[in-house]
Amino acid sequence: MKIQTRFAPSPTGYLHVGNIRTALFNYLIAKKGGGKFLLRIDDTDLERSNQEYEDEIKRDLEWLGIEWDKVEKQSRRFDRYQLTLEKLRKEGKLYPCYETTNELELKRKKLLSMGKPPVYDRSALKLSNEMISNLKIEGKEPYWRFLLDHHKVQWEDKIIGNISVDLASVSDPVLVRQDGQFLYTIASVCDDIDFGITHVIRGSDHVTNTATQIQLLGMIGSSVPTYGHHSLLTGLSGSNLSKRFGSLAIRDLRSSGIEPMALVSILSALGSSKPIKVFHSYEEIYHEFSLDYFSSAPTKFDPDLLYVISKKVLYSISLNEVEKDLRKIGVPEDKFLPFWEMAKDSIETRKDIKKIWNLCIKGPSLMIKDEDKPFVRTALKLLPPPPYTETSWKNWTDIVSKNTGRKGRSLFMPLREALTGKSVGPDMSKLMPLLQKIPSY
Ligand code: GLU
Repeated sequence: MKIQTRFAPSPTGYLHVGNIRTALFNYLIAKKGGGKFLLRIDDTDLERSNQEYEDEIKRDLEWLGIEWDKVEKQSRRFDRYQLTLEKLRKEGKLYPCYETTNELELKRKKLLSMGKPPVYDRSALKLSNEMISNLKIEGKEPYWRFLLDHHKVQWEDKIIGNISVDLASVSDPVLVRQDGQFLYTIASVCDDIDFGITHVIRGSDHVTNTATQIQLLGMIGSSVPTYGHHSLLTGLSGSNLSKRFGSLAIRDLRSSGIEPMALVSILSALGSSKPIKVFHSYEEIYHEFSLDYFSSAPTKFDPDLLYVISKKVLYSISLNEVEKDLRKIGVPEDKFLPFWEMAKDSIETRKDIKKIWNLCIKGPSLMIKDEDKPFVRTALKLLPPPPYTETSWKNWTDIVSKNTGRKGRSLFMPLREALTGKSVGPDMSKLMPLLQKIPSY
């Protein structure tokens, strides 16, 4: 049986690193198994879903090189969901409810205050036919719940291991809202059946959903996919990453200039027993990737790591892969190699490449400290105008040292700062041959 996975975002916000982790896991196991990866747009909520979010989701995946084999949209499948509902209704598995949101909230609070789990009490099942007719006459529309069998549902989770959920402690899931909107549970189950999904990998916040979905699948008469629930990513403070607040949104990372393979490299190992390695292609990753290495404990995501790994990715890519960037910022073709050899040591993102090129052609934008000015002025008088070679830095600093008696840090640091505007940066011997402008102080 060929592996078929899916990534099923709702287009109601921007994707963040936690969402992409789910996409990546599903993509990697599909690739590894020679299977297919489906992008499913969970847009049953027509009010909150919007095209802009859907486009951004696709852009995020494209940026990361996660290629889907097919796209499906839940909004095109309402007829199918309706048919399934009819079947459940006939089998007495669907029942109408009339409580308002406030009434439900009150019930919840009451149960919680008694120290009980906030499980729906099924009071709608006690409504007589007459009461229901009266509610209809009053113009009240019902929402519909799936009548769970109060059994334990057990499965072998790819990440958590053997797990069971007692459905007696779970509220009957709402399948259709009062306004007729189909909800996630029914849509997701129908889709997983129709699209032949063999593996469902998603966040551990879906564990209870999985139990109800397994029961629903059984009722509809379908086989059950393999499930895996990965830990949720948290920020360094331990707080949840939230799509709505745009924290660590992929679209922001796209514009930050970090290398997409840096994020992919981190996410393919974070929370597992494997160290984070720098990868350049998915082929390299999926050969080594296995859900078996991942733990179900919450996993902290450190945004600074993105820059550390992005730097490593850039350091290890070939010149070919940046030629386009170099051409775009105006580096002449004959300088590609020496420029890249110099620049790759000290950049974290592709945006930094431009900063270093600007330094070469325009000189630094920052001034040196006042106390260093007399020394720098003396030193600059000993520096001939460009062009320079790889030995120019050594020759110049030797002469300056002889003339001023300075050595070590007190010699090199002010000179580096004078020529680059920074106290850290590229190897000065490699930079000098590319410098076209020497500032005057
Ligand atoms: N739209 C759901 C979500 O984003 C999909 C969950 C699933 O993978 O089934 O949480």
